[in-house]
Amino acid sequence: MGLFDRLFGVEKKEPAEEEVEETVASEAAEADGAEMASEPELPTEEKTESEGLMESQLEEVSEAASEEMTSEVEKVTADTLPDYYVQMRAQLDAASRKVEEEQFQEALEEVRKRRETETEKYNRSLQKTRSGFLESLNAFFANFRTVDEEFFEELEELLITSDVGVQVATQLTEDLRQEARLENAKKPEDLRRVIIEKLVDIYDKDGHYEEEINFQEGLTVMLFVGVNGVGKTTSIGKLAYRYKEEGRKVMLVAADTFRAGAVAQLVEWGNRVDVPVVTGPEKSDPASVVYDGLERAQAEGVDVLLIDTAGRLQNKDNLMAELEKIGRIIQRVVPDAPHENLLALDASTGQNALVQAKEFSKITPVTGIVLTKIDGTARGGVVLAIRQELDIPVKLIGFGEKLDDIGDFKSEQFMRSLLDGVFVSDID
Ligand code: GDP
Ligand code: MG
Repeated sequence: MGLFDRLFGVEKKEPAEEEVEETVASEAAEADGAEMASEPELPTEEKTESEGLMESQLEEVSEAASEEMTSEVEKVTADTLPDYYVQMRAQLDAASRKVEEEQFQEALEEVRKRRETETEKYNRSLQKTRSGFLESLNAFFANFRTVDEEFFEELEELLITSDVGVQVATQLTEDLRQEARLENAKKPEDLRRVIIEKLVDIYDKDGHYEEEINFQEGLTVMLFVGVNGVGKTTSIGKLAYRYKEEGRKVMLVAADTFRAGAVAQLVEWGNRVDVPVVTGPEKSDPASVVYDGLERAQAEGVDVLLIDTAGRLQNKDNLMAELEKIGRIIQRVVPDAPHENLLALDASTGQNALVQAKEFSKITPVTGIVLTKIDGTARGGVVLAIRQELDIPVKLIGFGEKLDDIGDFKSEQFMRSLLDGVFVSDID
């Protein structure tokens, strides 16, 4: 089944991934002749409910405990114990209440943290892009009564301003011209579905997505490159947290020795997420810091080594020379590394991100893209331009500045969130 059908198939709204599993399971059960026990609940609701339950249970337990302690204190006070003991008892109770309160707060924090599912993260981060695109599309359709040459020209412009890239825009418009001719298209609104279908088809390309991180059995080395300010260091910090949470042994290497403060920034992330950071003396040779990092990672049985590099040197030649040297040093210690050479791109820079990707590809073999700051921009359409115009898959996506605001990039989820509600006016 093509991507468009998976997104908008016969029933328009396809079930979410988790639901698919449920459906498959229940279909299998039906096939076995077994009765369906009950209507499967939506996983998100289930989660929210159980989280709510957990919260209120925690609150109850905490309240009950403190009430019990208060009455204990009163009982003891009523007894004939010397004042000294009464005071001690009261102090002890206060201390244990404090500990309990802290534990309670920690547990609550955990619950809150888990509240945003991956789907919600995509939906939230793509809100600006989605509403921007929908608004333009609706305004466009409101503006045209006939399908004429102006219609196609305006459509092409709309697509270009939606950051999907010139190639996608021209290909889509050209395909649509053909189609409209063949089908004798009547009203512009009839073409809405065709436009979205084409957009999805162009994105789907050959249907191959190599979005997974190339994890190794032993040590996985991930090198991060990209211009200043795109979010390399922040992404490394967030990934360190995530991989550690997944039970991997993580280590960071501060090879951005060019910019004052860059090392300190990574060290701070290391402290925050409790992961070791390999550093060198100020202004030291980045390649030698990388060498130390690799040796230490091997000696300590590290699973994932994340290397931060400088985004800007005096000029492009210097940057290329430095990245080449880092590459050589890495291979001297681990011949098949780096396993990922990830280019960080700031989504809010739109087509400029594409230019950066083309430039970096000339100086280093980029294996994947970390697309950051999608949460703060309406230019998320750039993902379509990247897929169409570059031969580099997006592998990671930055959803914001919080510790857990990074995720594996999933094209299908991305498109689902991007195009959510695009056919609502059909139903009206
Ligand atoms: P570097 O120079 O490439 O290492 O960039 P930094 O990691 O220092 O990030 C630059 C700024 O972008 C910081 O203020 C980050 O908090 C911010 N940033 C990075 N990733 C994201 C993201 O996914 N969303 C948002 N909203 N901000 C981000
Ligand atoms: Mg940095």
